[in-house]
Amino acid sequence: MNRVTFNQPYMTGKELEYIADAYSLGKLSGNGKYTKLCHAWLQKQTTAHKVLLSHSCTSALEMASILCDLQPGDEVIMPSYTFVSTANAVVLRHAIPVFVDIRPDTMNINEHLIEAAITPRTKAISVVHYAGVACEMDTIMAIAQRHNLLVVEDAAQGFMSTYKGRALGSIGAFAAMSFHETKNVISGEGGALFVNDPQYSDLAEIIWEKGTDRSKFFRGEVDKYTWQHVGSSFLPSELIAAFLWAQLEHGSTITQSRLDVWDFYHNAFQSLETSELLRRPVIPAECGHNAHLYYLILPTHELRDQAMEELKKLNISAIFHYVPLHSSPGGLRYTRTHGSMEVTDSLSSRLLRLPLWNHMPQQLWAEVATAVEKVVQSY
Ligand SMILES: *Cc1c(COP(=O)(O)O)cnc(C)c1O
Repeated sequence: MNRVTFNQPYMTGKELEYIADAYSLGKLSGNGKYTKLCHAWLQKQTTAHKVLLSHSCTSALEMASILCDLQPGDEVIMPSYTFVSTANAVVLRHAIPVFVDIRPDTMNINEHLIEAAITPRTKAISVVHYAGVACEMDTIMAIAQRHNLLVVEDAAQGFMSTYKGRALGSIGAFAAMSFHETKNVISGEGGALFVNDPQYSDLAEIIWEKGTDRSKFFRGEVDKYTWQHVGSSFLPSELIAAFLWAQLEHGSTITQSRLDVWDFYHNAFQSLETSELLRRPVIPAECGHNAHLYYLILPTHELRDQAMEELKKLNISAIFHYVPLHSSPGGLRYTRTHGSMEVTDSLSSRLLRLPLWNHMPQQLWAEVATAVEKVVQSY
């Protein structure tokens, strides 16, 4: 194993205590004390209208697809440079992901390419805030409004990030966040659905509770609960929520500890960028980011692979990221592409992610930076 791993899951120290407390309260299924604490925290932090914990960001995206009422043959515009779940959630409804290219700076969906990809079958735009850096949301929301489309934010990586001061997850009609162990705050597997359009709030709760109005029943709003709508078992147990609560309590310090590493890398690589040996991430002025990941863009695909190998020899785990979905076997079967994927193909083949985790020891920051400098300067 590499000495400097790419990621290390972080515990705040309270996780096991809260899990024991959930057990002692005698309610292990979902929607108890810890689920409510997490909902309230996430709602307050994001100002979202409603938050529902889920088993994963994947399942939150699936809920969003049901809420969008996607029908077979409907289309959802999205980037190809994303995790498979953004597209799978659409394909599960027998709808069609339509890919457009990304921006050369942030690697987010290129908002200027969306409008031309709209057809009479388009129902939604699914945007991905890559690396916790926001998409150009004002432009995207205006397009959606003009064409009567719903916007789903894949905010899997967007915990505590902002766009013009607004929290990611609070802007689209729906949003999904991840608490997978590779994200900033974690519960092993875990996620949340954010509902920002109040007219969908009751339906979201029904979909979440296996298609029943059980939540209303527990609040005493109906005298029995029954099957109402398509749904599934989307709510996690209290054990997961208890773990997550211990993390959310430290959300700000976790974010700050990641930003410290990110800022160190960013300063360290400035001169290499000036020498055109690599390019650093771009953070637009209106975006407040959460240091979800630090990546470098190398001049060519070959140099990226070479750098990855050289760093491995130095016991440092630096890795690539998404294989664009449009070129994957699933993508060829289930999706359509609108226009050139030139930027997606080029950047994804040249991108290298560096080790970064919560409370990463400081001596490792410099070790990684020095190793990258050495490797890159040898070209
Ligand atoms: C991590 C991630 C997901 C999936 O999250 P899970 O919680 O593992 O389901 C989806 N989309 C993006 C952009 C991600 O980074």
